[in-house]
Amino acid sequence: MLLQASMIALAGSLAGYCISTLTRGAISREIRARMTAETLRQTAEAQADQDMLTELPNRRNFFRRLRERLERGRAGGEEFVLGVVDLDGFKSINDSYGHTVGDLLLIEVAARLRDAGGGNGLVSRLGGDEFAILIDGARNDEQLHGHGDTIRESIASPYLISDIEFSVSASVGFVRSTIADLDETGLIERADFAMFRAKANGSGTVIFSHEHEEDLEQIGRVEQALRSSDKEAEMSVVFQPQVDIASGETTGFEALARWNSPSLGNVRPDVFIAAAERTGLIEEMTPILLGKALKIARDWPGDIKLSFNLSIRDIMSSTAIDKLCRIIEASDIDPARLEFEVTETLIMSDFETARKSLAKLQTLGARVALDDFGVGYANFGHIDQLDINTIKIDRSFVTRLADGGRTAKVIKTMVDMCATLGVGSIIEGVETEQELDVLQGIGARKVQGYYYSKPMPPDEIPAFLSRRFLARIGGGPASVARAV
Ligand code: C2E
Ligand code: MG
Ligand code: MG
Repeated sequence: MLLQASMIALAGSLAGYCISTLTRGAISREIRARMTAETLRQTAEAQADQDMLTELPNRRNFFRRLRERLERGRAGGEEFVLGVVDLDGFKSINDSYGHTVGDLLLIEVAARLRDAGGGNGLVSRLGGDEFAILIDGARNDEQLHGHGDTIRESIASPYLISDIEFSVSASVGFVRSTIADLDETGLIERADFAMFRAKANGSGTVIFSHEHEEDLEQIGRVEQALRSSDKEAEMSVVFQPQVDIASGETTGFEALARWNSPSLGNVRPDVFIAAAERTGLIEEMTPILLGKALKIARDWPGDIKLSFNLSIRDIMSSTAIDKLCRIIEASDIDPARLEFEVTETLIMSDFETARKSLAKLQTLGARVALDDFGVGYANFGHIDQLDINTIKIDRSFVTRLADGGRTAKVIKTMVDMCATLGVGSIIEGVETEQELDVLQGIGARKVQGYYYSKPMPPDEIPAFLSRRFLARIGGGPASVARAV
């Protein structure tokens, strides 16, 4: 009996011990699990807020802080300045030296920006080679330009990465929080706009002003009008001749888009093409313009070629390029008479996709030209890799001929290089006889420019062709046959 009672008591206390141990174990496991989950959550949260490469606050984090600052500002808090910093030519460094060097460069740039951004400047990485800075307090233009100079100088000093020494410059755009009642997206858009202006005019730093606001409104109006436009009815194509200077013969025409908007009148092509690219409307526009150009070129003599400009979106999607290929196939024009112009900058945004798209056009029998050559990367390697048929030497070279110096030699080098590579060359923007003489002297073959003709409407082409022919052979019955 006593034994039985002791056994029960022992079993009871053992059970109690076990239960309490088990419970304690379970509780501490639970606590540990919760702590791990919390640590993981905090880490994940920190990572979600941080750019993994540079360890700077990331875009998401920056937008949140910007929103908070704006809200504080609206509630009577301190004003501030938003800066956007973008490296110039980073893509070519990435392409030339590889992504590892590119990444190391971004890490170093981030460190320099953190130092140069100043004590109260919150520096973040918005993505790619674009960084943002928040500067507390009001700053006058002089102070901001000084700040921009400090940032750009710190970025500009040479880098030594993987035993390679190189330099990179940066462009800076500033906008004050007080410019207008904007949300964070509106403010970033304006800082970006200022930065792009700085990049475009090479001025280093630009502060967003009320005039820029007017430009933005104009851009908005163009985009709006473009959205509601009847492209088929409002858009047309004009043609500028390409001439062989030795024979004076017109070898082809470049199609150039024109837009007559019922609300805005004639809009400059660079303006509406850029707007069409930004809004994606170019995908709708290019097939219409190409269709019109092909229809007109069909009636020209069979040896007259047609050049047509393509935009980034036309060659960056296989649907878009396939659609263009179908339009070419459906037209009864020999694809060998067609040349498609693309710019190097455009190609570099995605080299491989661009190469495939251009190869599709070449498979049809069309040719490909590199437009505005010499102002961007001017990489002769691209000519080879992309199997380019023609390069069009940018107008700025001819413009600089008047300054003397080495421009003529530079053009000659490019023309000779093309000849060696078996690639055609066309020099753009020839306006005067003196320019033509110099070009002829250095052995240039084909040119395009106001000297021969401004872009003309299609109905002037037959007369132009017959005039050029008459001028060359001094008239005669053949010219009549030659004229359209
Ligand atoms: P681009 O392809 O480089 O075309 C040459 C531009 O230079 C044309 O301007 C032409 O009128 C102009 N130009 C030609 N010769 C001279 C000259 O001797 N002096 C001067 N000052 N200018 C000359 P445009 O027609 O205003 O076109 C501007 C740009 O718009 C084109 O540059 C091209 O990039 C783009 N563009 C035009 N049409 C189209 C199109 O149908 N599709 C696409 N994607 N872009 C187009
Ligand atoms: Mg062109
Ligand atoms: Mg050009």
